[in-house]
Amino acid sequence: MRVVVVGAGLAGLTAATDLDAAGADVVVLEARDRVGGRTHGIEVAPGAWVDAGAAYLGDRHTELHKLMAGLGLSATPTAMRGDSRFALGHGGKTRAGRFPPLNAVALGEMFDLLHDLTYGPDTPSDTMTAADWAAANLPHPDARLFFPLFLGEMMAADPAAISVRHMAFYLRSGGGIRYLNAFEGGAQQDRVLGGAHQVAERLAEQLGDRVRLARPVHAVDQSGGRVVVESGDLRVTGDAVVMAVPPLLAEAVDYRPGRPAPRATAVTGRGCAVKAQLVYDRPYWQEQGLSGWSVSATGPLLSTVDDSPPQGGAGVLTGFVTGAEAYRFAGLTPAAREAGVLRQVRELFPQLPPPVAVHVTDWVNEPYSKGCYAAVFGPGDWTRLGPHLTTPHGRVHWAGTETSTEFFGLMEGAIRSGHRVAAEVLSLEGKQ
Ligand SMILES: Cc1cc2nc3c(=O)[nH]c(=O)nc-3n(C[C@H](O)[C@H](O)[C@H](O)COP(=O)(O)OP(=O)(O)OC[C@H]3O[C@@H](n4cnc5c(N)ncnc54)[C@H](O)[C@@H]3O)c2cc1C
Repeated sequence: MRVVVVGAGLAGLTAATDLDAAGADVVVLEARDRVGGRTHGIEVAPGAWVDAGAAYLGDRHTELHKLMAGLGLSATPTAMRGDSRFALGHGGKTRAGRFPPLNAVALGEMFDLLHDLTYGPDTPSDTMTAADWAAANLPHPDARLFFPLFLGEMMAADPAAISVRHMAFYLRSGGGIRYLNAFEGGAQQDRVLGGAHQVAERLAEQLGDRVRLARPVHAVDQSGGRVVVESGDLRVTGDAVVMAVPPLLAEAVDYRPGRPAPRATAVTGRGCAVKAQLVYDRPYWQEQGLSGWSVSATGPLLSTVDDSPPQGGAGVLTGFVTGAEAYRFAGLTPAAREAGVLRQVRELFPQLPPPVAVHVTDWVNEPYSKGCYAAVFGPGDWTRLGPHLTTPHGRVHWAGTETSTEFFGLMEGAIRSGHRVAAEVLSLEGKQ
């Protein structure tokens, strides 16, 4: 059986590895000149790598942990010791722990409401946005201030662009709001030592020349007996195709014959995040009793976190620009972006020396990601798209984190979708 896998992110490479292990003849076509998709490492000092894309994982991300162990990779705890900095409208404040200096009862009620949101018949109507939900359910100004910051940090989503049903689904799929929001004991507990990009790189190494880079697929033709995948003048014929690309990108491919229903609509958003990484000789903030964690009500950096490589060599403060702010920021010149980042870090951490380097990774304008962390389903999307996200179209099968009901949007969801789609394709062997 010959299977063409489109996309060499974690989903595509997991599927290709499973298919290969089961004896299928696999070819992976990847648009970029690198593997890993939404995981991407940057070497900020000799031997010191940081995650410009996905970074964090928790104990419940069991398939990722299994994969890492098999590839000789290990996890390292995310540093989160010391005081946090907050700039939430009343000047800068330093506080122990991560809880913001806002009305604790109002924020507690907000977290309880989000915890209780169900995904199912009792979810508020699919036409309601998260912004509508907040307006109806969060009377306290502190909860209204914090909600978009929290949603931006967790989902890189603008409340006005995401349906409340998708928010509820995401929370459930990720293990609940408390797990998703937590560092120790939660979804941000660890990082991959040396960078998450290594997972895809090592999977690709094992697949060798079956992974072909710089091969953007533009058409999938199954009008003949088998299926032909087209990338420029290259035609690869197979018995099945795995489309392991985000739904908005899969939608741009020409399918012959056409599909009965779309997998993304005009209100499907891209998620939007830019990561700004400030590199220092060492993590000076730790010497000042600070964790590097900060939350700000105004951009560009809505939060920062200490992402220093644990083996030393550099101190790295990662800033997140998310939600609507990411679109504004991504439209600035590189010089204006850097100036904005430096100004804000000077205000947040006035004792720090200037960084030795600033790396800005703009996922908003990445043509082969179309935003991040993951697709954001807008009002009405779940009703229209839900059933079609995973239903095969003839010989075309769908993978990617957006097809996973468990840990949607995360590396774990991508890997689970890769295992699921490989089993789906293998179960058809000899039946087509
Ligand atoms: C800034 C950022 C932070 C994140 N933080 C975290 C985190 O801390 N923890 C976590 O678990 N997750 C995080 N994520 C999400 C995580 O990266 C993704 O869920 C996961 O990597 C998605 O994998 P995937 O294989 O489904 O898709 P992708 O990684 O997007 O892979 C799809 C691949 O398909 C390729 N492609 C696209 N179109 C075509 C085409 N037409 N032809 C051929 N190839 C094509 C792309 O180049 C890409 O390589 C983050 C993402 C980003 C961007």
